[in-house]
Amino acid sequence: MIPEYWQTDLETVGRWAAKCSRAEVRCLTDSAGGRPVWLFAYGEKEELHPAANYNSACGAHDVTAYLDRRRKKPVILLIGAEHGQETEGTAALINLISLLETGVDLAGHPNAPLCRAAGKVRLLMIPVMNPDGRARVKPAAMIGCTNDELRYWGQGTWLDGSLCRWPDCKKVHPIREAAGFLGGYFNDDGVNLMHDQFFHPMAGETAALLQLAEQEHADCVLHLHGGTNSVNDLLYTSYVLLEINEALRELSIRCNRRAEQENNSFSVRELPGRECGETPPSFNLASAIHHVCGAVSSVFESNEGIIDAPGTQQTYSEILRGHMILFEETCRMFWERQNQTR
Ligand SMILES: [Zn+2]
Repeated sequence: MIPEYWQTDLETVGRWAAKCSRAEVRCLTDSAGGRPVWLFAYGEKEELHPAANYNSACGAHDVTAYLDRRRKKPVILLIGAEHGQETEGTAALINLISLLETGVDLAGHPNAPLCRAAGKVRLLMIPVMNPDGRARVKPAAMIGCTNDELRYWGQGTWLDGSLCRWPDCKKVHPIREAAGFLGGYFNDDGVNLMHDQFFHPMAGETAALLQLAEQEHADCVLHLHGGTNSVNDLLYTSYVLLEINEALRELSIRCNRRAEQENNSFSVRELPGRECGETPPSFNLASAIHHVCGAVSSVFESNEGIIDAPGTQQTYSEILRGHMILFEETCRMFWERQNQTR
């Protein structure tokens, strides 16, 4: 039984886009399949006039040519459903939007500390980044599904009907012509936004997202994914500065400290070494976003409640609470960083 506060379908997102009064709402872009990608923005936009793009500012040995330190509020960008079957981030963002619009989440609960923290930043939210993938996935959540069901809705099938699975689904890209059932991972052209060609993107969705992060001078970008039975795992990002992953470790520790008081937890990992090896880690969407704006950018993997996969199965409320802790601590930490650097 899916609780009423777990709302993840495209119609619900569209209804919130139409009725929000506190957020500035706009269609960021249309997907390959012609569906709107809604962006919700809270907190005023400070007009910046950078003299250079981020890369050139780094080349000039002066990041302030792109990053204006006098800005009052940090900019946080939260992105749900880059993969359509990973509905946890969408559920969490719709609850956060409800909280900011009405003072209560979809279960009717207030959350004053989160509202206060959110008020200190410019908060950008995209509940469904990949509406084509989301439209293809019938269940509202993967909780209670088997691993094979998760793979079917996520990576889809090959032409012969066998499951594409993870990570083999990435061996053909774009996958559309090779797919029988196109999974929720992909837009209607078969592009997995996480592994686009970032220097000349195949997907308009990817191009629009990179442009948004650059124009907004995002300080932190969280890609909200599901990671089978992962528990609140803020993944380190490849090919970025050491300081970026140090910030992610600090955020994980802060979140874990909060979560442990509630019988929940966050994964806290040792910092990674330098990228190397015959098959190096991928330069993915989280890496690419960092390189257009300098943001702390990370894939957050929440639990998906899969019944026959190893690890813990969390409940709907535990999964949502993990996200709310993450959102609050992210806003607080980046506000503190902004005020320390003045
Ligand atoms: Zn994912």
